[in-house]
Amino acid sequence: MIAQVTAAPPPLVCLDPGHGTPPAVGRQLEPIGPGSRTLKIKDGGGAVGEAAVALAIARRARRLLLARGYRVAMTRTGPTIHLGDGNGNIARARFCNRRHAALMVRIHADGSTVRSLHGVSTLVPAWHRGWTDDIFARSLRAGRALQKAVMRSTGAADRGVVQRGDLTGLNWANVPAVLVETGFLTNQTESRRLKTGAYQQRVARGILLGVAAVVAR
Ligand SMILES: [Zn+2]
Repeated sequence: MIAQVTAAPPPLVCLDPGHGTPPAVGRQLEPIGPGSRTLKIKDGGGAVGEAAVALAIARRARRLLLARGYRVAMTRTGPTIHLGDGNGNIARARFCNRRHAALMVRIHADGSTVRSLHGVSTLVPAWHRGWTDDIFARSLRAGRALQKAVMRSTGAADRGVVQRGDLTGLNWANVPAVLVETGFLTNQTESRRLKTGAYQQRVARGILLGVAAVVAR
């Protein structure tokens, strides 16, 4: 037998369920981009219940991606993040960078004081020289694919793809990166849905289909 040394390993998808940071760490500041003097807290904690919902969706997405033949890494697999490296959004990005992820998918849920707001949006890095110029186009393409696929699989309202320059975890990414806001936990109907396994599975399925549209397996 001759070993097949030329076969490339399957692409790796890096899943980053939002929040789950101990409050004492979450309040610490970090620069929003490499070399930036603008500092931002690592984690404000998110909406009530968000950390658990994000993790549940990420675990389901992991299962689906593995079944489809992707490799998967997760920044946290339990309620609390344990990355070292400061455990902030820089650490989350670096975790995915180090693994040369084909795509970093950050999973969050939204919150608003306007209780009627609902629906799904996907945040992508805004173009910034030296930070995101290398990943901008691929991230935007991935963001559009994920947004479309999650819309289709959930039937949720479409809040679109939004370019953001202020998200530390996207600015430090050296691999294409997107952040899916899977719905509003401050909206009664959407919150109830987001807490059910059936709906989490639909979101996860959307993530799988969105990834599959842009990351060849
Ligand atoms: Zn969040």
